[in-house]
Amino acid sequence: MRFAPRAGVAALAVLLLSPPAFARDTSQPAPRLAAVAEAAKVQGLKRGVVSTANPYAAEAGARVLGWGGNAVDAAVAIAYALNVVEPQSAGIGGGGFMMVHLVETGETFVLDSRETAPAGATPDMFVGVPNPSLQGVAVGVPGMVRGTAWALEHWGRLKLGQVMLPAIRLASQGFEATPRYVSASCNSRARNSPEAEAFFCPGGVPPAVGQLIRNEPLAETLRLIATRGPDCFYVLKPELGCDIAKGIVEGQKFTRSEAGSKGGSMSYADLQGYQPALRVPVEGRYRGWKLKSMPPPSSGGLTILQMLAMIERFPIGDASQGWGFGEPKTVQTMVETMRVAFADRAVWAGDEDFVHVPAAGLLDPEYVAQRSALIVPGVRAQPDPTAGDPRPYDTKPLRRSRPLAVAAPIDGPGETTTHFSVVDRWGNMVSYTNTIESSHGIGVFAGYTREDGSFRNFGFLLNNELTDFNLAPTVNPYTGAAGSNDVQPGKRPRSSMAPTMIFTPEGQPVVAYGSPGGATIINSVFNVTLNLVDHGMGLQQAIDAPRVSVASAGSNVATETTMPQATVDALKALGYAVSITDIGSVQAVLVDPATGRQYGAADSRREGTVIALPRRQP
Ligand code: GLU
Repeated sequence: MRFAPRAGVAALAVLLLSPPAFARDTSQPAPRLAAVAEAAKVQGLKRGVVSTANPYAAEAGARVLGWGGNAVDAAVAIAYALNVVEPQSAGIGGGGFMMVHLVETGETFVLDSRETAPAGATPDMFVGVPNPSLQGVAVGVPGMVRGTAWALEHWGRLKLGQVMLPAIRLASQGFEATPRYVSASCNSRARNSPEAEAFFCPGGVPPAVGQLIRNEPLAETLRLIATRGPDCFYVLKPELGCDIAKGIVEGQKFTRSEAGSKGGSMSYADLQGYQPALRVPVEGRYRGWKLKSMPPPSSGGLTILQMLAMIERFPIGDASQGWGFGEPKTVQTMVETMRVAFADRAVWAGDEDFVHVPAAGLLDPEYVAQRSALIVPGVRAQPDPTAGDPRPYDTKPLRRSRPLAVAAPIDGPGETTTHFSVVDRWGNMVSYTNTIESSHGIGVFAGYTREDGSFRNFGFLLNNELTDFNLAPTVNPYTGAAGSNDVQPGKRPRSSMAPTMIFTPEGQPVVAYGSPGGATIINSVFNVTLNLVDHGMGLQQAIDAPRVSVASAGSNVATETTMPQATVDALKALGYAVSITDIGSVQAVLVDPATGRQYGAADSRREGTVIALPRRQP
């Protein structure tokens, strides 16, 4: 069913949709992505590339590719290895989104292993709770173990036990603490519980860079999963030695000392019932290139595609017209695009399994044109943009008549979450963002106190993903009903994670990329996309270039130290509040569709590492 757009809106849309003189004719094949030509200056290899935010995890992925594993095998190996070497960001206590492009069928899927709210969760469960992201009440039912097992079973070539070997080895034999690991070790979240503090920051002192870090409890947990299978994580079976579930259920009862503290309500049934979901990416086009990104429960893909569609009418890359990378006009137009899109995101994004997300309406050309009309270069919209109503343009029938989302703000980049990308020798690609939400999740290891009073520690941190929900019940401004991102039992909290891929107009995969950074993820992916498509940058250059981000309809703009000062000044002169900070951490792989040669680029904002196979002899 399709609602007829109002006449006035339709006329405006037609006007805006007539292509301006500078628009590229998208019926013609797009030129080669400049990043491909740039990459081709060094001879790419063809046996697989991994790009991760940590050198040990890159090594784990490369080994698995070397053993004959495909991109999914390598991705699972990387995810487990990251739990050991980047425990503050992601791990088996959390969840994520694995986008997979399968070369054999040409299909692209997302395996959604996002955490869910337990059956006992309620919309007001955070109300009055101090520091909710550090309390057991924030812990969602973890998804990574069943999610990665599902992916491996359906798409992998190797067995779970084999791909977990590098992680088990790293946990039991140890790795040398990296600067980033050290710098996060004594933050307040890492010290939220006595066991976490004793491990990360013993005696209030972080480990030295290069110090050997071993996590035998985690090694033992991983061995249990590797030998007994994923159910050993989700189901309490003491007769088989499977007591991890007890560690999760007991661990999420954690409370802090201040009044009003609250533990979680997760039960064994919640854990046992967790299921990952197979999803189809959202798709759009930008200057002829095809993009696939993360659908709900993430807001990421829809917001990115909407921003690209809104900004496409501006000649972003054309220096002769005063645009081009880093120019005030370009950056300020990006900022206004973000503000408009984030206003929509705040109202319409949520978990599609529970609420209708008007995805088709948000990306409908007429609706996009109406929203794009709000973007005026050189003008800071005042008052702040508000959400539009995409429902009249939503071609899909409303699946349910549940209320729509009103969102709470999400934390900034911090230490958490990790993105990595992989391509294998066959050309299969993975773009995977994995998280436990904030740095060190709730700062509590899964574990329980044995009868003899000793602590059975499982060595992995519990997530605080449920604080991605609205922290208090909200009201939808259009319907007056409860917000779609309000807590509901079994629901996935709204995410911003946006594993993304760019394809040629004909559908051949070229780039896989994504980022951590809470709501700024959306903007990091947007910045890199413009760098690749409009500014003709090479892949590494597109990642290195300074980013700009505003993650709400407001005027608080973040940018990075290397953004031209004249542009920062121009933004300030228009009344934006500008702060300088690192934004995101993008890991990408690229394949030249013409030659099949493969490349990677990683982000120096964290400890980005690329390994291409076969390894060159020194
Ligand atoms: N939990 C956040 C999300 O799903 C990601 C957190 C981060 O990247 O820092 O959007």
